[in-house]
Amino acid sequence: MIDWTTIIHFKKDEFIRPELLRPKMILMLDDLRGQYGQPLVVSSSWRDADRNAQVGGALNSSHVSVYAPDGFYSGIDLTTSANVFTKHEYFEITKAAYAVGFRRIGLYADYKHIHLDVENRLPQEVLWID
Ligand SMILES: [Zn+2]
Repeated sequence: MIDWTTIIHFKKDEFIRPELLRPKMILMLDDLRGQYGQPLVVSSSWRDADRNAQVGGALNSSHVSVYAPDGFYSGIDLTTSANVFTKHEYFEITKAAYAVGFRRIGLYADYKHIHLDVENRLPQEVLWID
């Protein structure tokens, strides 16, 4: 159980079903925001299986808690307040994500989001581009 009063940069209500978000993930996101130094907006958090299918999410998506053995989800997409990263910002957010310990990072060709998760049942030390 996370004590949200100790989280500096994110509010509980920025996440869908925050009680199902893996606590380690919240701490890492907060560290990431501190390291990155710019506002970050949660653009995708928890999904139910139907929503995941609608958006073309992976069958074992880290956004879907029912796929995880412990019932927690760990997949978050972040964007900027402008809803798009510059190429430099994309480099900086990726660098900061790695620095705070993320080892599963997804990038998008339109520069609009970065996917991060701490799903240890999925391959580690991977970066993909959708
Ligand atoms: Zn994602």
